Amino acid sequence: MRQQPIDEEIRQFLLSLAKALGMRVEDVLDLYFYVSPATVRLVEVVEQGGEIVGVRLAVKSRKRTDVWYYTSVGLYGAKCTCRGNAVGGKICRHIIIGLITWHMSSLLKKGRGVDLSRLAWLKS
Ligand SMILES: [Zn+2]
Repeated sequence: MRQQPIDEEIRQFLLSLAKALGMRVEDVLDLYFYVSPATVRLVEVVEQGGEIVGVRLAVKSRKRTDVWYYTSVGLYGAKCTCRGNAVGGKICRHIIIGLITWHMSSLLKKGRGVDLSRLAWLKS
């Protein structure tokens, strides 16, 4: 099996993510750089049949101090406790951060990332 260097994997993933969401690559990069131990906590890694099929995480609010949003992303959908998602039903920045975190966990633990084409909910 051919292994791409991790940096290249991540670059490709961020590009596909931007494309899938109709976002600017710069904005996706912004979210990627927001992920740090102080701002994102992995709550649970959901494994099934030897692969990581989703993650649950807490994401610190960028604007409000001491506010964390709880987000889950997986093969069948994504949810977040922030207003944008819970009330507006939109794919919020926390869910995008969740996708990035899921991809990184999968890449580091299993050697392969998330295949965005499997996520039907991303296209709706
Ligand atoms: Zn959210």
